[in-house]
Amino acid sequence: MLAATHMLAGATVYGLTHRNKLISLPLAFASHFGLDRVHHYDLNMTKNVLIGIPIILFVFYLGWKMKDVFIVIAAFLGMLPDLISILGISPSFHRIHMQLHFEPYYPLPLYLLAVEAVLAVFLIGYLYWRGVRS
Ligand SMILES: [Zn+2]
Repeated sequence: MLAATHMLAGATVYGLTHRNKLISLPLAFASHFGLDRVHHYDLNMTKNVLIGIPIILFVFYLGWKMKDVFIVIAAFLGMLPDLISILGISPSFHRIHMQLHFEPYYPLPLYLLAVEAVLAVFLIGYLYWRGVRS
C-alpha cells in the first residue's frame, strides 16, 4: 500500500480517537497492519514519494489548521512500519511486518490501485472536513 494511504489512515484514526492520545497514537501505528491485510497494488519508491509529498504537505496543513501536532505524528506512525522495514532497522520487525502483510499474487490486478485511490480520496475528504471544522 502507498505510504500516502498509510499516512492518511493514521491521521484519520487519530481524527476519530484524538481525545485519548494513549489509544489514538498506538491505533494509528496499528492501522498500518490492518491496511496491509487489504489486497493492494504496490508502486515503486519514486511514485510513492511523488504521491506522498502532497499528502505530507496536506497533513502538515491539517496540523497547522487544527493546531494539533499529534495528527502529523499519527500520520507518521501510520507509515512507520514500512520505513522501519525499508531502512532495515529491525529484521525481526520486518519478518513480523511481512507475515501480517497480505500474500501478493502476480500479476496484481490494476483495479486494486483504483480501490486504494478511492479509499485515499475518502480519507482526504474526511480529514479536510475535520480540519475545516476545527
Ligand atoms: Zn507495510
